[in-house]
Amino acid sequence: MTKGILGVWDGEMGEIDSSQIPMKIWYHDLYTTGIHRDSRFPRERYEMLKDRIQSSQSSGLIDFISPECATEEDLLISHDPGFIRRFIDGALEEKEINRIGLKPWTDLFVERTLRIMGGSLSALEHVCEFGGISGNMAGGTHHSHAGFGSGYCVFNDIAVCAKNAIESHGCSRVAVLDLDVHQGDGTATMLEDIDGTLTISVHCKDNFPFRKAVSDYDLPLDSGDGDTRYLEKVRESLVILEEYEPDLILFQAGVDALEKDGLGKLKVTRTGMRTRNRMVFSFLIERKLPCVLFMGGGYSKPISHTIDAFYDLFIDGAIADRHIQKIKTSRC
Ligand SMILES: [Zn+2]
Repeated sequence: MTKGILGVWDGEMGEIDSSQIPMKIWYHDLYTTGIHRDSRFPRERYEMLKDRIQSSQSSGLIDFISPECATEEDLLISHDPGFIRRFIDGALEEKEINRIGLKPWTDLFVERTLRIMGGSLSALEHVCEFGGISGNMAGGTHHSHAGFGSGYCVFNDIAVCAKNAIESHGCSRVAVLDLDVHQGDGTATMLEDIDGTLTISVHCKDNFPFRKAVSDYDLPLDSGDGDTRYLEKVRESLVILEEYEPDLILFQAGVDALEKDGLGKLKVTRTGMRTRNRMVFSFLIERKLPCVLFMGGGYSKPISHTIDAFYDLFIDGAIADRHIQKIKTSRC
């Protein structure tokens, strides 16, 4: 099934036991409709991806669950109280809204944001209790900082989940693996002084944010780099993870390194992206590590290339989750 310690899993399904349950993914229609229809952001990607999965032959591999809203209390673990309150009250200043960028403002945007945060926290709770892979079909909001939102991100679900995993779920070594083409600057800053966390970011150095933060490990790429260079960096990041010996992985799995992406500046193919995912999943299967999958960025034109890559990600994630379940079951 796998090839060596840092091999590439071939994605094969193997024998499926009917007692194995589908991978749980949190999803809500507001992920699309909670963004104003006139926004430049390709809001339809959430709805399209869910429809694509549900109409495919692999639909039985994933269970979609509706997220509850995160509470103010949930967010206080990592965010400034004043920022949380002003956002919920719809009282952010114009420059703060501009920095987030999901304009024009719509009142549904508050509920959308809180449901995304709730989805990530529920996925975290699930993997901490049952192991395996689970995730949110949104989120990975890695540009958000403690006191302000930025780059399509309001609150930082990765930082909130990392702290929550340590404080409420008994984790002691939480690793953030951020393979989105943009640096996880907010996550790096928010977790900088938090014991028991490790941040790794593989990104294109010529991309937003132009003033980079300092992750524990930054693995930058040059504009125009393709599969070979990208997968080298992914491999390096897995070697770092191997040494760290995490008990939980938070995987920001943005697909905006794709060559067709409107923002990414890299030239990674769909096959290269799929290989990336399988390298990570191989790592998880071999170590039976729990992992939360965050969707992250993807802005191809047309958006269908992004949907294809996310489809590959979630389907392979679901098959990998089954393998982890199988290993766990057979060891009991
Ligand atoms: Zn991105």
